Amino acid sequence: MSQQDSPDPTSLPLDTRIGLTSGADFWTTRAAPGVRAVSLADGPNGVRKQEGAADHLGLNASLPATCFPPGPGMSQTWDAPLIGRVGEALAAECHELGVDVLLGPGINIKRDPRAGRNFEYFSEDPIVSGYLAAAWVKGLQSRGIGASVKHFAANNAEFGRMFMSSDLEERTLREIYLRAFERVVRDAEPWTVMAAYNRVNGVFATESRWLLTEVLRDEWGFDGVVVSDWGAVWDRVASLSAGLDLDMPANPRHVAEVADAVRDGSLGEDVVDVAARRIIALSRKASARAVPREAVDFDAHHALAREVAGKAIVLAKNDGGLLPLPPSGTVAVVGTFASSPRFQGGGSSNINPTRVDLPIDAIRAAAPDATVTFEEGSGDSSSVAAAAQAAASADVAVLFVGLADRDESEGFDRDHIDLPAEQLELIDAVLAAQPRTVIVLSHGGVVRVRPFIDRVPALLDCALLGQAGGGAIADVLFGAVNPSGRLAETVPRRLEDAGSYLTFPGEGGHVHYSEGIFVGYRWYDARAMDVEFPFGHGLSYTSFEYASAGVSVDPKVLTVAVEVTNTGPVRGREVVQVYTGHTASALVRPPRELKGFAVVELSPGESSEVTVTIPLEDMKIWHERTSTWKLEPGTYQIEVGASSRDIRTAQTIDLPGDSFHVPISLESTLAEVAMHPGGMEVMGALFGAGPSPLEDPADDAGSFGMDLQKTAVSIPLRVALDFAGGAIDHAELQRVIARANDSAREPGRG
Ligand code: BGC
Repeated sequence: MSQQDSPDPTSLPLDTRIGLTSGADFWTTRAAPGVRAVSLADGPNGVRKQEGAADHLGLNASLPATCFPPGPGMSQTWDAPLIGRVGEALAAECHELGVDVLLGPGINIKRDPRAGRNFEYFSEDPIVSGYLAAAWVKGLQSRGIGASVKHFAANNAEFGRMFMSSDLEERTLREIYLRAFERVVRDAEPWTVMAAYNRVNGVFATESRWLLTEVLRDEWGFDGVVVSDWGAVWDRVASLSAGLDLDMPANPRHVAEVADAVRDGSLGEDVVDVAARRIIALSRKASARAVPREAVDFDAHHALAREVAGKAIVLAKNDGGLLPLPPSGTVAVVGTFASSPRFQGGGSSNINPTRVDLPIDAIRAAAPDATVTFEEGSGDSSSVAAAAQAAASADVAVLFVGLADRDESEGFDRDHIDLPAEQLELIDAVLAAQPRTVIVLSHGGVVRVRPFIDRVPALLDCALLGQAGGGAIADVLFGAVNPSGRLAETVPRRLEDAGSYLTFPGEGGHVHYSEGIFVGYRWYDARAMDVEFPFGHGLSYTSFEYASAGVSVDPKVLTVAVEVTNTGPVRGREVVQVYTGHTASALVRPPRELKGFAVVELSPGESSEVTVTIPLEDMKIWHERTSTWKLEPGTYQIEVGASSRDIRTAQTIDLPGDSFHVPISLESTLAEVAMHPGGMEVMGALFGAGPSPLEDPADDAGSFGMDLQKTAVSIPLRVALDFAGGAIDHAELQRVIARANDSAREPGRG
């Protein structure tokens, strides 16, 4: 519903209007005559509806709800329609539990492997994050429940999360950290956006007019409500002026401060009215549910959670085809996570699951003819010895390891990415006893596998799989499901290899994003570094062949088409990934960046043409000098592959692109002047008629033996003027510069 249809807030008393812009309590907005209260609850991978004591740290109980796989599991499916179905299911549970707005999805970029909330977020890449999050929001909102995309913006660590300033260049912010938000806002029109706790370049996100109004609303067209993260507002008057409509939870001090500011004239009443109007519109949307309430089919949601989990599991390694396991023989299951799985993260996203599938039960059910033994293998050396003994006397061992809640959670970062020492010892003991061992790894943030990966033949990277993960693991182990998950975060060889290693998590109140746009695979690829498992990686029980790709372009979209064939023995799902890179960029750019992807499911011998469309907007870079998005002209490499390091076919395409010229000034270098469309005239004025020294590098008589073409990138016009020894009339040169700039000005632009 548009804001125009909403009741005019000015018909309400001032105090009521001010009250609307603040929570009534922990989870609801205030009601007013004709305006019903809106109920909010965490997300994102389930509904955390608290009826009793409320908190934002996952401390107090919530009503049972389906716990779907958290962000990393969801993103490892690379399957937007599937995630859309999760959104629809979440909406049904919100209806049932009386929730109007679900606080998710969390789409911050995984800048550093240690960041404490990586277990909630999708990816190190903004394209995969953006498409999946948009599908989640569309699914949810199609059933009349609002989303709250969070945490806006550059909220990439837990250390000092309520005060640290994320300091980064605008190009980095826009290309990496805002890009997924932009896609969700433009494509899925979320009802709300949640402003983060942290500062961005020194300004609190909740007080940044640039972020909350200029970028979010004026540029991207957002017309919903900006809500604060819980307790993120410090100066309520400043935040209201910046465009933060709803302050959560209830804060009577803030309400009083706003009333005082309006009464003493330091805050315009119109600012209050704008926010109140948006909150009234939100309340109207919540009242006008698009779909009537239906009884929730929790069994169906559990089945959906299992389907998502099955598609999320990444077969990271499978030497000698150890997997899938035969349904008979002896299987030694080892590890406490087999009987007490880690399937979600701690903190505000912690869900009270409707039920939990235990991997050990699911394994027994999946292989009734096998002899399945189980040893926890934790605690003392005798239990490790018992686990090794069980492994030695079985045909194969399945070893469950990973990170526990105490190792990672909302509220703190990790200081390393290793498994706990006792788990590494257990791995050593089991691998020494049984070389035919499958490791099942549960974790939210990335784990270093170097200490054992060369000794283990098979590894299932399970991230966090939600309440139905146990069944999904058994499905994959015994081949009922052919694994098809793909990593959405690089697994580095060592933490020290990460681009943010030295600057994370910052100090003195600031964290400098010194690696710039080189986050995740963008960094490892640019540095040509070995990684353990690349971004996009994941094996299958079948194989796929790619024919050569066709690439076409129209004014707005690049289309990549490739025929994919299942050349192996079983049906399988392939995630086709398209990366682009400029072959001779004038700017610092990563060698390749994901720009699109598609999922295809094929039976043995079956082929299908997979089409990936890439909006040219997504290929643009942020040009700092003109403060605009630009498509760099030139030749692009279009790579199609099964991971960022498994490129199967590539093409090049020439794109005319946009002009990168900045107006000529005395600070322009000679090289910039030479490249400028009006630059020849300026060069003529400077060097006189005849060939300019820049055009004739062989003639170095007048240039002290220097290659002027190369040094021209370092000589500003003002210095060249001085070198000319006063031979040029400055005033005339300024006139020529002005003419050159006029002639180059794009039509319609000032
Ligand atoms: C978290 C948010 C959450 C909110 C409400 C905050 O601490 O950062 O993600 O939605 O609490 O629980």
